[in-house]
Amino acid sequence: MEQCIFCRILRHEAPASLVYEDNQCIAFMDINQPNPYKVLVIPREHIETLFDLTDAQGEAMMRATLRVARAIRAVSGCDGLNVFQNNGITAGQEVLHFHIHLLPRFASDGTPWRNPRPTSRDELDSMATALRVALANSDD
Ligand code: 5GP
Ligand code: ZN
Repeated sequence: MEQCIFCRILRHEAPASLVYEDNQCIAFMDINQPNPYKVLVIPREHIETLFDLTDAQGEAMMRATLRVARAIRAVSGCDGLNVFQNNGITAGQEVLHFHIHLLPRFASDGTPWRNPRPTSRDELDSMATALRVALANSDD
């Protein structure tokens, strides 16, 4: 999967602000931040859809998603957080490498967040650093 941007990120051929990694998956800041602290979690293997995951890969993805979600909450103070994936070519995906979106939606008082603006690499890096610190301070 030479051309897959997420495989290129995994090979360190394309930039990404890394949030989390283990032997099965990684998480990094989405280049588009409709709300701050939006993160993508991906398997290290080029798997296209949810249905192609093995049980072990699914468990690893869910574990990573849960840990990163806790860190996003600790750092951003968000309440609502959407966890979703778009499946397959008919979903109009830009990248056909399975990815779980973690999108914080609401402040702790229930106010919806909406922040559609360009985000610089420096901003992505500083959000990623804050999340990595929170992950390092967690007990899992
Ligand atoms: P989907 O295709 O499921 O809507 O989402 C693809 C996601 O990957 C989008 O949220 C898009 O912003 C993100 N994305 C696409 N290209 C890159 C990239 O080069 N780097 C990063 N960090 N995210 C990307
Ligand atoms: Zn890929």
